[in-house]
Amino acid sequence: MIAVKPIRLPALLIAILAAAPFASPRTHADPQAAPAAAPAHHATAHAKEVTPPLPPSAWNAHPKLAIILVIDQFRGDYLDRFRADFKGRGFNLFLQKGAYFPDCYYDYANTKTAPGHATIGTGAYTDGHGIASNDWWDLARNQDRPVSSVEDEHYRLVGLPDSSLPANQPGAPDTAAKYITGSSPRNLLASTIGDELRLATKGQAKVFGISLKDRAAILPAGAAANGAFWIDPASGYFVTSTFYMSQLPDWATAFNTGGRIAQAEQEANAPANTTEFYDLVGRTPAANSYELDFAEALIDGEQLGQRNVTDLLTISLSANDILGHQMGPDSTYQQQMVDALDTQFDTFFSWLDKNIPGGLGNVWIALTADHGIAPIPSTAARYGINAASIDLDKLSAALDYAINMKFSPGEKVAYILPHQELPYISLNQPEFMKAGINEQEAESAVQQLLPDAIASLATPAPEPQPTDAPPSAQNGSSPQSTAQPSETRLPPHPVLFRSFTRQQLADGPYPPTPWGELLAHSYSPNGGWYIMIIPAAFQIETLASIQTTHFSPYSYDRHVPLAFYGAPFAPGIYRGRAEPTDIAATFAALLGLNQPSASIGLILTQALKPASEVTYPKPTPPPRARHTPAVTHHEATPAAKPTTKPAATPAAIPTPKAAHP
Ligand SMILES: [Zn+2]
Repeated sequence: MIAVKPIRLPALLIAILAAAPFASPRTHADPQAAPAAAPAHHATAHAKEVTPPLPPSAWNAHPKLAIILVIDQFRGDYLDRFRADFKGRGFNLFLQKGAYFPDCYYDYANTKTAPGHATIGTGAYTDGHGIASNDWWDLARNQDRPVSSVEDEHYRLVGLPDSSLPANQPGAPDTAAKYITGSSPRNLLASTIGDELRLATKGQAKVFGISLKDRAAILPAGAAANGAFWIDPASGYFVTSTFYMSQLPDWATAFNTGGRIAQAEQEANAPANTTEFYDLVGRTPAANSYELDFAEALIDGEQLGQRNVTDLLTISLSANDILGHQMGPDSTYQQQMVDALDTQFDTFFSWLDKNIPGGLGNVWIALTADHGIAPIPSTAARYGINAASIDLDKLSAALDYAINMKFSPGEKVAYILPHQELPYISLNQPEFMKAGINEQEAESAVQQLLPDAIASLATPAPEPQPTDAPPSAQNGSSPQSTAQPSETRLPPHPVLFRSFTRQQLADGPYPPTPWGELLAHSYSPNGGWYIMIIPAAFQIETLASIQTTHFSPYSYDRHVPLAFYGAPFAPGIYRGRAEPTDIAATFAALLGLNQPSASIGLILTQALKPASEVTYPKPTPPPRARHTPAVTHHEATPAAKPTTKPAATPAAIPTPKAAHP
């Protein structure tokens, strides 16, 4: 925490003045804003004083490199929960030398991976960037299944090994049957901080995104990015899409073929040459070092941070999410992965310190997550919480039955589309239209039928035990008079908290409360006709091969870490509410850029040093960044001889592998 003296500075610099160390309630009005400053600016124009140096910005490569580091499904309480474990310069870089906002919450109700990453990049929520979920029904594009947030049939994937080539790509093996589309940010309706950096510098700045998941590589980086890389789930090869480039850069091909995959398989105790890399390696700490090594290869290969303009890299680490769905937030496996990540960050930050000219002082890093996670329902239920799970197949069947009774008695029309994922239930628009029912009637009808449909999912309460009480018939027949008190807790039962039709989300009215704003932020035109379902807290959909998930407006799904390291940030703990949208806003302000097109983030002035105190190390001439295999494991190790490290994870994680939500 720093105490800030009011200082008179030219208006240009006022924007990055530090405010009071304790945040006031969130507001777009900046209490520190400029009235007193303008005269000073004019005065200096006339006086023969020393001209203050230009404020640091993307234009003069301050910083050389900005990194947005996203840990997929890293809940906001983890940094404090596991803080005693942290050593070295991993998480402590942020906790001891950075600006840490322990109370950062997403302000929308659809806390899935794709919208979270889109929010981080754009500084906007779903109503601004359009991404509501990982997948949604788009019957004009596909009648068989929901489309993913980033799949794009106009493009094809680049860099797949021959073994993974789908039948729709040249050179595919005869046995290949799968049709795989390329990917792009086609559904992203807002620009990202990276897009703005590219535009502002006339393309001189380089912008890249990395993840194991396509959506988590593409959406934070944006449409103007030079590239985005994610893995082929079968082989672990890093791939991209023809949206970005027609062939992989040499450094990426070298990474894919240089033995690093074999090393990751070994560290994860996965079979060599597995065809389930995403599942078997992805859920272990080995996946995080695999991604960070790829980041080093990219920084080196693309010479990021080496020029007179700021470059930007977004890195989304997927392993914590893959493991977290299987084992839950309270598992010791998750703690072990966080502790391992602490060490892996230490290694990565030390590498940056050596390889970015002038060292880590010329790098900014923002740390956050795309969403949190609910406790495993059975765990929450053990504490007495009504943590039921909702069987969406049964719910759809109950709704279909009731809708048929209402609109087409005696028929079995499928009015509810299959493959649903909370918080949305998508309606079969063509079937409703065939029956002459418009969107408003359809959505209202489903909404009205929902409470009974959800109530019908409850396991019936056990039959009351016979008692010696007198027959209740004489007291009337109200349920209260017949219910028998029990000493045994009833099983958890599904409860509908709220539901909203697409039209209600689009048009309101919303309650004039923070809850109303959160709902407004959740609207997307994608997905056709739909109902947003909000069950009671701690209730999730019934899951087949994993134990818990995230999708809701509740704090455990919305709470994520937010921390910054870098020259402009005053180290300290900042207790006010912050939001992940503030990353793009703050970076844009500090870099001298327009905010992304739909940004609603606030500039975190309370964590900014006065401009006069912000200094950057002068790079010493060369050493040009050179990637040293001896230090970083990732490059060109002969396939037969992967670097041996102690196994990064305990032998086996005892849950089924997952179809990933
Ligand atoms: Zn997830």
